[in-house]
Amino acid sequence: MTTRQDCLALDAADPLARLKDQFSLPAGTLYLDGNSLGAMPKATAARVQQVIAQEWGTDLIKSWNTAGWMDLPSRIGDKIGRLIGAAPGETIVADSTSLNLYKVLSAALRIVATDDAGGRRRVIVSERSNFPTDLYIAESLAEQHGMTLTLVDDVAEIPALLNDRLAVLMLTEVNYRTGRKHDMKAVTAAAHAAGALTVWDLAHSAGAIPVDLNGADADFAIGCGYKYLNGGPGAPAFVWAHPRHADRFWQPLSGWLGHAAPFQFTANYRPAAGIKRYICGTPAILSTAALECGVDTLLAAEPLGGMAALREKSLALTALFARLAEERCGGLGVRVVSPRDPAQRGSQVCLALAAPLEDASYAVVQALIERGVIGDFRAGDATRLDQVPHILRFGFTPLYIGFADAWDAVEHLHQVLVNEEWREARFNQKAAVT
Ligand SMILES: *Cc1c(COP(=O)(O)O)cnc(C)c1O
Repeated sequence: MTTRQDCLALDAADPLARLKDQFSLPAGTLYLDGNSLGAMPKATAARVQQVIAQEWGTDLIKSWNTAGWMDLPSRIGDKIGRLIGAAPGETIVADSTSLNLYKVLSAALRIVATDDAGGRRRVIVSERSNFPTDLYIAESLAEQHGMTLTLVDDVAEIPALLNDRLAVLMLTEVNYRTGRKHDMKAVTAAAHAAGALTVWDLAHSAGAIPVDLNGADADFAIGCGYKYLNGGPGAPAFVWAHPRHADRFWQPLSGWLGHAAPFQFTANYRPAAGIKRYICGTPAILSTAALECGVDTLLAAEPLGGMAALREKSLALTALFARLAEERCGGLGVRVVSPRDPAQRGSQVCLALAAPLEDASYAVVQALIERGVIGDFRAGDATRLDQVPHILRFGFTPLYIGFADAWDAVEHLHQVLVNEEWREARFNQKAAVT
């Protein structure tokens, strides 16, 4: 049996524990939702205030040059690159994840169409359990290009679809709902062997697990700034293209700041070299500056072993939480539905409740939140509840979560269930954001 004392001893011996000081977290809150909205770095408020008061308020338009505003998307892109196995100049910060997916999937489809003289490659493959925005964007592009979007229910169906009709395999490396992780390198190699390209969504990977885009020989990737990168609500996202593709095509949102010489104000578009053409319009400087503070909280781990060390701690935390949840709450109907195999696990643990308690999943999460344990609820597929159950989702951000936190979270869950706290009416009112 692991005791709370054991967990406190693990925290005391953990060299990464001091990284928590970088964050402003309210007392009494156990924040297990950094996979949805990362916590606020202490540095962010002062930095944004500096941009507002000094760079904007005093220096006004000069700051585009003097404060380096023009370079922010590249500078922060290069910092993110250090977390995802990208070389300097390969990554850029821009727009939202959804928009960036539109850009890279469009570019990938054009590359395939150009290289595939016979025009046979007319299928985009993804997973039905992928995050909806990814599927909606792919659906829209498939329709525009007269192509087919094929969705698999199980990864085991993918190999049979890797054939000469496949144009692009579009996957999210770590599934937002189940936390299941793909083997990016092996999957990319299999797609390439079939002559197709890959687009990877790193929303639940960047800052959560080590990623090596060049090592995996991926084609395109995009990711989110406000989850594990701690960039703040609605933070800008990022884009990466393999250098062999970056210069090949315009992306379709060919705005003026992706132009080779925007201040020549020419009537015709000429794309900037490399990844810079993935910028569309003027970057949101306030939120881009905030994103840099978030990315810096991860780079602060570099002297302590970087993403590899964070990953080791994350796996230890998720393994502990999953085991304690089963030991303490298994008899109350709790089961772990995220992968137990570390190679297939992201940085989150998903729990499901056995019927008839399953219908109370949302209320259980609300009761936990009132106790200060912040996780979230993701609705299952009502037509396939045996395969896609309602999920209680808990993200483990090793920058600011410790072992005693995992222990305490399970204890709170136990209390909520044995006391049936979830029965209270106020926990059963569904809010807009779950
Ligand atoms: C969070 C998330 C997004 C978010 O997209 P936005 O454009 O920022 O709203 C996209 N894809 C995946 C897989 C995500 O997890």
